[in-house]
This record gives sequence, C-alpha cells and structure tokens, in this order.
Amino acid sequence: MRVLVVDDDRLTRRMLERYLTDLGYEVIAAQDGAEALRILETRRVPIVLTDWEMPGISGLELVRRIREDPEAPFRYLIFLTVRESREDLVRGIEAGADDYIRKPFDRSELAVRVRAGERIVRLQERLERLADTDPLTDTLNRRGLERWLREQEEDRMREGQRMAFVMVDLDHFKSINDLFGHATGDRFLCQAARCLVDHFPPGSRVARMGGEEFLAIFPVARVEEALQAAERVRAALPAMPVFPTRDGAPVHLKASLGVAILEGPLDADAFDRLLRRADAALYRSKDLGRNRVTLWEPGMIPHEGS
Ligand code: GH3
Ligand code: MG
Ligand code: MG
Ligand code: MG
Repeated sequence: MRVLVVDDDRLTRRMLERYLTDLGYEVIAAQDGAEALRILETRRVPIVLTDWEMPGISGLELVRRIREDPEAPFRYLIFLTVRESREDLVRGIEAGADDYIRKPFDRSELAVRVRAGERIVRLQERLERLADTDPLTDTLNRRGLERWLREQEEDRMREGQRMAFVMVDLDHFKSINDLFGHATGDRFLCQAARCLVDHFPPGSRVARMGGEEFLAIFPVARVEEALQAAERVRAALPAMPVFPTRDGAPVHLKASLGVAILEGPLDADAFDRLLRRADAALYRSKDLGRNRVTLWEPGMIPHEGS
C-alpha cells in the first residue's frame, strides 16, 4: 500500500522512507503541502503522513484541502509533528486528520498507527467494492459502471476514442423461470453474465442493470468494432449450453442487443442519454424478432417504462 510522506526536513523524510519501506509500504515523499497536493491529484495514495510546519502550505492546510472534496476517494491522514499540546492535537484532528503522532516518534508506535490506518483503508475499499457490485452475478452494478466510466474519461479523451454502450436483454427469460424455477433462473443469469464478461473485448466492463438486463461499455475507434463485438456476444450466448438439471437436456440462452456510441466528452447526462439510446436500439431488436443486434439511430424511441 502506498504512503505519502510530507515533511520539509530531508532527514526526516529519509528516515520515514526507510522505516515504512521496511514495513512493506511503497513510499512517496513530498517536501511541502503544495507538492503533496500535486501528487495526490494524479496518484492513488490512501495513507498520508504529514508534518505540520512547512513553508507554503502547512500540514494543517494540507489536511483541510484533502478533506474539502467530499467526492474524493477516502484517505487516512496522520500528523507527525513536534507540536505537542493537546490544543494542537484537537485542532489537527478537527481539521480532518485521523491520527496524531508526536515527534520524536517511536518506531514501533509509528508502525502500529500506520497499520491501523491500513486496516481502515482496506475496510473502505471493501465497502466500495460491495457498493459497486451486483451480488447475484458478481459483475458491476450501475453505480460501479458509472464510476468506472468516469475513471476512463481522461485516457479516452487523450486517445481520442469513443465508448460503445451495449445493452443486452435475455430473450423470453420469464419462460425459463416458469419452466425451471427461479433458482435455476438465477444460476443461468450468473452463467450468462460470465459469458458476457468472457466475450466482450478486453478492456470492457459489464454491469447487471437489473433483472435479466446487462450493459457493457468498452472503448472503440470505430462503430463497426462495437457492432462486431456485440455480434460475437450474441452468438456466444446460445453456443454455451446451460443445464436446468444435472442430466436434463441443455438450454440455449439467447439475447437481444442494442448498441449506442458515446462520441464526445462525458457530460453530466451522457450516461443516461447513451443508456436510453442503447435501450431503444435493444427494443428494436426485440421488435424485429429478438436474438439480434441493432445500432441506435436518431429517431428510435425508448420503449415505455425506461
Ligand atoms: P423478452 O424477450 O421480451 O425480454 O422477454 P422476457 O421474459 O425476458 O422479459 P420480461 O421483461 O417480460 O421478463 C423478465 C423476466 O426476467 C421476469 C423475471 O421472471 C426474470 N427475472 C428478472 N430478474 C430476475 C432474477 O433476479 N432472477 C431470476 N431467476 N429471474 C429474474
Ligand atoms: Mg517541518
Ligand atoms: Mg428485461
Ligand atoms: Mg428479457
């Protein structure tokens, strides 16, 4: 796990770097608050160990700035300072720090306090993963997919790529439940999800949007690429036999797909807009007889209820 050490004193930085590296952390060092903020903008660093008094942006100011953005990923912040009064400790923690260590510090105390921070960070990561995951199929949920899409934006814009949105809705899935029961239906949903994950291009993310509907998103250079990928998935589903009972006859799942392409930057309602388009295209696939892929075109209207 990465730790950012912020201190204007070179010797302290060196010493902390050595201690923390020995403990198994990947250490990044900054000599003042401004440098620390620059690093945090571009790198994922979950634990920050900061001095208080530094030229320019102080540790107190640094902690305040890190806590300013409620949308920012969680970070565990520890003061490491010669300021030893109770008032300073209160101020430091009030500003947003999680812990406070006085200098000169004891090596083993530093170690257990950083470990405590690591536990909180891991717990936080686990919660975030749970909040982004569909519990039945273990694919992403809508929240997770939206987050992933936002995270891709910088790279995508730099590489000038488009994003393909492919909606997948299993055909006549209700009759599968009716025939084989809900538990078997659940198992088939998991198998279908696995098949989608395996057959959409590398670099795709697949999310269960609810019921028997999935959305895959992946970068493409051309519209054709998106259509070909969707077509491969359409063909892969029925090619994978699934079994309602141990020795029963296999069932071949089928799906209808709708494709829409995000061309420009990811503005605030891009996700919803592309979702509606992919959904409208999907319903055209249903209308045309199911088990097919349709590309969204202007004028296609979403079906009622979406
Ligand atoms: P269509 O080809 O028009 O999509 O037909 P369909 O039967 O798949 O569509 P419809 O939307 O009428 O029904 C979706 C069915 O999916 C209803 C429900 O029985 C089933 N379903 C939705 N969520 C779950 C789930 O979590 N588990 C199981 N086993 N079935 C589900
Ligand atoms: Mg200092
Ligand atoms: Mg459906
Ligand atoms: Mg369906």
